[in-house]
Amino acid sequence: MKYVGAHVSASGGVENAPINASKIGAKAFALFTKNQRQWFTNPLTDENILQFKGNCKKLGYQLEHILPHDSYLINLGSPDKDALDKSRKSFLDEMMRCELLGLKLLNFHPGAHLKEITEEECIKRIAESINICLAKTKGVTAVIENTAGQGSAIGYKFEHLRAIIDLIGDKTRIGVCLDTCHTFTSGYDIKSEKGYDATMKEFETIVGFNYLRGLHLNDSKKDIGTRVDRHESLNQGLLGEPVFKRIMNDPRFDNMPLILETPDDTLWENEIRMLYSYVR
Ligand SMILES: [Zn+2]
Ligand SMILES: [Zn+2]
Repeated sequence: MKYVGAHVSASGGVENAPINASKIGAKAFALFTKNQRQWFTNPLTDENILQFKGNCKKLGYQLEHILPHDSYLINLGSPDKDALDKSRKSFLDEMMRCELLGLKLLNFHPGAHLKEITEEECIKRIAESINICLAKTKGVTAVIENTAGQGSAIGYKFEHLRAIIDLIGDKTRIGVCLDTCHTFTSGYDIKSEKGYDATMKEFETIVGFNYLRGLHLNDSKKDIGTRVDRHESLNQGLLGEPVFKRIMNDPRFDNMPLILETPDDTLWENEIRMLYSYVR
């Protein structure tokens, strides 16, 4: 069974996210549990938490199929001590918010070395950041997203994801999320059938599907290997329809959130319906 949804708005309160997801026929959803442009924000109230859980239950969303995303300000591999400390505090706060909401996953971009430290050193800092935050929370899995590799971002190779996982103490609470746009522009040919099969085989060998907790379904404005992160609406970019048909018929992506982060939210309802129409 496939659980397709979108990264919906939580404006006005986290409890609105499941309502917004339901309106577009989503069976899963992503959200920011706080304003993604702020380091810290007001704590969740008991009312927020109660209503969020109530709305999820009422509208049929399982907590495993909700994939919250952290703030874009956070850099868990920052070369700068102050920025690293702030990132770790902010990420811990995000994990605790998820814990309060009963959520099981927290999706994040691994980090960037800003050309001041090596990739290896950055990976070590990222893993240390995750270990610190896992030790102070319960029940939430840290879900590393692969990246396009724009700028100095880590995560554009499956080997980076594996290197981080290797350094995590509690392997039961570390996972990964693959973004189709990032996978493609970072250099993996998922557009052709042969390339898709080879990429998935490589992912299985290096990372392992047992660590996969979700997918981001985005077409791409940029071509393979450009290492640029520009999402496009489904079937309007350089990736095109075939890869999404393959994904919707690939049992390796059953039972996990498959989340649209495409730029035109007025198309989401149609995109979700279209994706389900691919299931043979
Ligand atoms: Zn993504
Ligand atoms: Zn992206």
